[in-house]
Amino acid sequence: MPLDQPYPDLDEFLSAIGEAGQRLAHINASEGGAGNISIFIGWPLEVRRRFPLAEPFALPSPAPSLAGGLVIVTGSGRRLRDIHMRPEANLGVVAIGPDGQSATLYSAPSRLFQRVTSEFNSHLAVHQDEVARTGTNFQALIHAQPPHLVYLSHIPAYRDQAYFNRQIMRWEPETIVNLPKGVGVLPYCLPGSSAMMEANVAGLRAHNVVLWGKHGVMARSDRSMRSCGPSTWIRRWRRGGGRLCHPLHFFVVGSGSEAARPHNSRHGGVAPE
Ligand SMILES: [Zn+2]
Repeated sequence: MPLDQPYPDLDEFLSAIGEAGQRLAHINASEGGAGNISIFIGWPLEVRRRFPLAEPFALPSPAPSLAGGLVIVTGSGRRLRDIHMRPEANLGVVAIGPDGQSATLYSAPSRLFQRVTSEFNSHLAVHQDEVARTGTNFQALIHAQPPHLVYLSHIPAYRDQAYFNRQIMRWEPETIVNLPKGVGVLPYCLPGSSAMMEANVAGLRAHNVVLWGKHGVMARSDRSMRSCGPSTWIRRWRRGGGRLCHPLHFFVVGSGSEAARPHNSRHGGVAPE
């Protein structure tokens, strides 16, 4: 579902990424430098006032469907919780060339990273695949490490897709409303590898959230940052004397334009806060 005009401006995107990073930190899904975020923007957007430094950038794989578009992405090792304070220091902008083979990385003098995230290949491949299949002009991807989900993925029974989904739907039945396609469950793959990238692309074709075994999750949305991110929907319910957090801290909801205008409720966005 493409975003409609008037499109959000760069500041709105930077603050939405910062907001998502803070939220991930609040739910302990991005400890240290864990996790990364990218958004694809498929219309002309001037970024050089905020990101004036330009250098050639080698794409990990061709991205013909993204030609002429931008991917704003987190820098390697940067903490997601810090983005909102200094977005230019923590983010880079990869401008895909008209041939879909070459690219330019735009960054700021305050840049605090050497390279963009080491999982950029997985981000780029999902953007390429989604835009090629659907023609969308926007997509947000968040990779994070929600501890309960990662913990469950270490238990062999939960690495079975049907079992995993049955259990989390029974834990919290509303999950089916937010994730009608369920969660894709992937085996462990070496982070940053081609196997990880390929499994992730296939998983996100069928699901909006995939669990990377023993590693983390990736969530996608072509509607908003917020709809792709974790919400405040961290359900707790009592089991005996203890409290158990629902493992699925990550889900996908939201109405389209709430994304485009993160701080404007005139469209009546439904994402829980
Ligand atoms: Zn990772």
